Amino acid sequence: MPTLRPFLRLATGLASPGSSRGRLNILTYHRVLAERDPLLPEDQIDARTFDIHMAAMAEHFHVLSMPEAVERLFQGTLPARAACITFDDGYADNYTEALPILQRHGLTATFFVCTGFLHQGLMFNDIVTESVRRATGNHVDLRHLGLGVMSLANTAIRRHAAQAIIHQIKFYAPEDRDEICRQLHHQLGGGEPLPGLMMKPEHLTQLARSGMTVGGHTHTHPILTRLPLASVRADIQLNADTIAGLTGQSPTMFAYPNGTPDGDYNIHHADLLQQMGFKAAVSSAWGVAHEGCDRYQLPRYAPWGTNSQRFVIRLIKNALLGQHALRAARTATSIG
Ligand SMILES: [Zn+2]
Repeated sequence: MPTLRPFLRLATGLASPGSSRGRLNILTYHRVLAERDPLLPEDQIDARTFDIHMAAMAEHFHVLSMPEAVERLFQGTLPARAACITFDDGYADNYTEALPILQRHGLTATFFVCTGFLHQGLMFNDIVTESVRRATGNHVDLRHLGLGVMSLANTAIRRHAAQAIIHQIKFYAPEDRDEICRQLHHQLGGGEPLPGLMMKPEHLTQLARSGMTVGGHTHTHPILTRLPLASVRADIQLNADTIAGLTGQSPTMFAYPNGTPDGDYNIHHADLLQQMGFKAAVSSAWGVAHEGCDRYQLPRYAPWGTNSQRFVIRLIKNALLGQHALRAARTATSIG
């Protein structure tokens, strides 16, 4: 329906005006898969879908780097239709699949990378998924995790089992979670080492050389509210130092692991980032950033779907309706 295009152009400009009334849509992605994976949740993004999204971004939005967008947001000089593209965690497919698509459309993006996985590491959720994928039996006894005996009879059931296990252990302390993952891998058949899914150090260097922004996302992806503040600081500092060593620049942008305000982080972590020299941070609260936002708690938007025009319309709705995103309260007393 090419006739909708002028309407969409007008609507994006009206919903997302520039200057002091500026609205900044910050898109958030995790993996960009070469092909769809039946063991991952339905809302996964593959390269074809990502290409559709980026074509629409190039046509209808003014995509800025995060550092430029944040400065202009708070100076009141944001252009109309402003948007940023971000990725969390540091998956290798961000480099192999997403980067060429971004470059083809002339777009810039920010990659929030966990540096603890740069040497063939796997995040805990991927250890669970890959172990379940390779499981040799049709059942697994997970009564010790409070999950009973789970069936692994077919792919859909395996997807459900993997998601249930991930949900169950997500908030465990990192070392307990790692131990459970080691046991689970063994219990499900062990065998071949699991494949590395995360970026390698040289990928970070290349991203920075390509003009992309590399942001902080901690070293080990802990839930910040579960750790003492001193441990949080040490983990974030190690992440920043590792990124600086590989890209030549200390990160100034940060994404909270998991990112739920007053759940996964609180106001003390926002203050800590400011003390450590970061210029802004993003949460996973749904919404659009505007001048009245806390610059250490900018909300984001997770796109989905393969229809280009619906994708643009959802971003217009986000710009119109997403101005009151959740954020961690200034009165928070817990420092985890
Ligand atoms: Zn993350």
